[in-house]
Amino acid sequence: MAGQQSELLCADPLRQSVQVVKGVGPQLARKLEARGLTTVEDLLFNLPVGYVDHRGGRRINELRAGEYVSFVANIFSAKEVQYRRRRLLEVVLSDGSGLVTAKWFHYGAWLVKRFNRVRGKVRVSGTLRLFGGRLEMHHPEVEEVEAGQQEIGGIVPRYSAIPGVSRRTYRRLMAEVVNCYVPRVPETLPAAVRRYFDLLDLQTALRQVHFPSRGPEKYPSSTVSPELRRLIFEELFFLELQILRGRQRLCGEAGQAMTLDKDFLRRVGKLLPFKLTAAQRRVMREIAADLSSGRAMNRLVQGDVGCGKTIVALLTALIVIANGFQAAVMAPTEILAQQHFFNMASYARALGIPFTLLTSRIAAAEKKSRTEAIARGEASLVVGTHALIQERVTFNRLGLVIIDEQHRFGVLQRLALRRKGVNPHLLVMTATPIPRTLAMTLYGDLEVSTIDELPPGRPQVQTVVLEARERKRVYELLRQEFLLGRQAYVIYPLVEESENSELQDVVSMTSHLQDQVFPDIKVGMLHGRLSSEEKQAIMTDFARKKIQLLVATTVIEVGIDVPDATVMVIEHPERFGLSQLHQLRGRVGRGKHPSHCILVHQGGGRESRARLAIMEQTNDGFRIAEEDLRLRGPGELAGVQQSGFANLKMANLLRDVGILRGARRAAMALIARDPEIEKPEHAAIRSKLQRQNEQAAALLGTC
Ligand code: ADP
Ligand code: MG
Repeated sequence: MAGQQSELLCADPLRQSVQVVKGVGPQLARKLEARGLTTVEDLLFNLPVGYVDHRGGRRINELRAGEYVSFVANIFSAKEVQYRRRRLLEVVLSDGSGLVTAKWFHYGAWLVKRFNRVRGKVRVSGTLRLFGGRLEMHHPEVEEVEAGQQEIGGIVPRYSAIPGVSRRTYRRLMAEVVNCYVPRVPETLPAAVRRYFDLLDLQTALRQVHFPSRGPEKYPSSTVSPELRRLIFEELFFLELQILRGRQRLCGEAGQAMTLDKDFLRRVGKLLPFKLTAAQRRVMREIAADLSSGRAMNRLVQGDVGCGKTIVALLTALIVIANGFQAAVMAPTEILAQQHFFNMASYARALGIPFTLLTSRIAAAEKKSRTEAIARGEASLVVGTHALIQERVTFNRLGLVIIDEQHRFGVLQRLALRRKGVNPHLLVMTATPIPRTLAMTLYGDLEVSTIDELPPGRPQVQTVVLEARERKRVYELLRQEFLLGRQAYVIYPLVEESENSELQDVVSMTSHLQDQVFPDIKVGMLHGRLSSEEKQAIMTDFARKKIQLLVATTVIEVGIDVPDATVMVIEHPERFGLSQLHQLRGRVGRGKHPSHCILVHQGGGRESRARLAIMEQTNDGFRIAEEDLRLRGPGELAGVQQSGFANLKMANLLRDVGILRGARRAAMALIARDPEIEKPEHAAIRSKLQRQNEQAAALLGTC
């Protein structure tokens, strides 16, 4: 009790434990905490998922199946019945206009007794379903209606279910929280911002969102209610503040100023078998400016598959190495690391630069000697996988960190590699285009360069969606291509046959294709369960054309480059995101021959067929990413998981792009006026940011 007293005096009422709320004891608190609801603030910002109109009330014959409804009725009968060896409780409800059968599949004996005790009317709330022509509800909420009190309730919020806590208990708890704590919620947004963006004050918004005074209005899918808009703005405003402050910190960091040796660059230029595209040259200029600025570079290079990011990475590394530093290149997979290594090795050799490869699969003794060479600074160019960020690996003079396909790595891994040098420059590369509306925010701590041009002479990849019964046509096309000396990929979603799946798999299809369909060519198999040596051997055989057809899972998704591969067949494309399909498609059309991508659609229905049609229409990775975002939400976009966007509770980035822009502008204006957020009028903002940081720190601590 004394503890509670002192907590009540705590300076910030929102940070108090849920236990300070009247009616919440340790037991209930535990259940709430299991759902991440630890503080009063958590409760206030756990918004309803919908509302039920308890006013007036509709008659049963006015209700529609599929809706969450609430009505008042008499209990006609309540009894336990046996159904297919299962006992269930069946309660028939009637209001004179119709019948609804409520069913409980899990219940205690007390519930049966309770129904048999009820004399008057009850209010029943739940999702109405239609089964065999009868209206049913499963596990609805039932409250007794006291005489003359039918109108009680008004518009009632509906929250997502919390195990062990009835909706009614939670609603009562929320009524208490809103009444007692909303008046103590400090305003976070400056008055000028609220006026400019026409936002409700925080207290009104919270009160309205939990217990609206007016009926649930229907908003068009592109907008939200004023109270929700205010709360979403707030959420995005604070996310933007975090991002902008992160960027501020990084931009301030000193870095090694590199000089550009013209002679050296000319020598390098002579080695290149092609001329850089205009986009590659522009990006190189941006990088060169960063490297020579005296501040640490933090740059992301994004560009569609095949646009030529590797050469940009290599040139950046060479500049840094020419300045006497080491450069590290980290790739997400063994295969990619080796591919980069072989590509870069030929340049390094020609320029007399010592280089090495470090992956976890290298034998211990060899690894030890390579690690020592890296530590002594004898290897200038170091290519590797995650093995590079292991603690034992140290560098002598690490001046540049390059991370390929950055979405495969989290922010923490990025930091881990950077810490191995003293503020080394950082270049990250991704082939997963992020829609322009999000890129700036998503990569808030990075400057973004875009290679928006493919090298000349690249053949377009023709994409078609075929149905499974047209597979013969696919095999014909493959046969023709093999006759021309070309190669192909076939992608399946599974490695091995699975009992509970209808999906085709790599292992059984490899033998089928080899034995039944293409007995006279060599079929190879690649998937994640093979050892790294096996994978490398297969890829090498494919690159050397000892294998014509490679049957694989998505392990070949990133970066693999085989110029004579001209056909990409993807089975069960409905299982993949559009961006992922686009990545896979990027494996062909890398040489000079016309190429094809065939999506063999099966069992996905009309909607998924329509989605795949986008692949037929465009080769533009940005457009495809935007479609993915629209259709599947931001969680599906690679790279989003590691950003703050995955944790958004209220905002929906598809719907709320307009609010996002406003929030970003407001955050920028605030930082411009008060960079350290220390002015007294921003105290509430400061304390909320601190609270968020503490939570983030706690999260990082647990993983
Ligand atoms: P990605 O951006 O997907 O990593 P890569 O760097 O693997 O693309 O480049 C794809 C292919 O294009 C490689 O074979 C590379 O040698 C070639 N390439 C890169 N830049 C050019 C260019 N300017 N002109 C012609 N070919 C290029
Ligand atoms: Mg690449």
